[in-house]
Amino acid sequence: MCGIVGYAGNNNGIEPVIEGLSRLEYRGYDSAGIAFQTSAGLRVVKKEGKLENLKGLLQSETNLFSSLVIGHTRWATHGAVNDTNAHPHENETFAIVHNGIIENASKLKEEIAKSNYQFKSETDSEVFLAYLTLE
Ligand code: GLU
Repeated sequence: MCGIVGYAGNNNGIEPVIEGLSRLEYRGYDSAGIAFQTSAGLRVVKKEGKLENLKGLLQSETNLFSSLVIGHTRWATHGAVNDTNAHPHENETFAIVHNGIIENASKLKEEIAKSNYQFKSETDSEVFLAYLTLE
């Protein structure tokens, strides 16, 4: 299984979201990531493997602050276990996370292939982002 944790409030949500993801570790996962809003725009930090790997990336940065944060632990169903396929997936405006399976993803990908959308990941989840991008 896998998990999603979100924070929207007045304080820094990064730590609470990481803490929330750590409470979901027992469910099993193969990668973890967070997306958060900053004054400079949307940021995504994600990493294959244990949450410790993601924490390591975040520790190298000081003064990270965001009051709008979403976190994800992935259990791969579509696509390899790697940094690129880890969630969140983002475009210039949105970051998305998804647990579960989009059953008709391959059919939807055929439809999206008629547009100029370039998939970055192998996940079924990115189909959702593709439609948001093409809106
Ligand atoms: N199907 C998605 C993927 O393979 C989400 C898997 C999950 O539930 O974490 O990325």
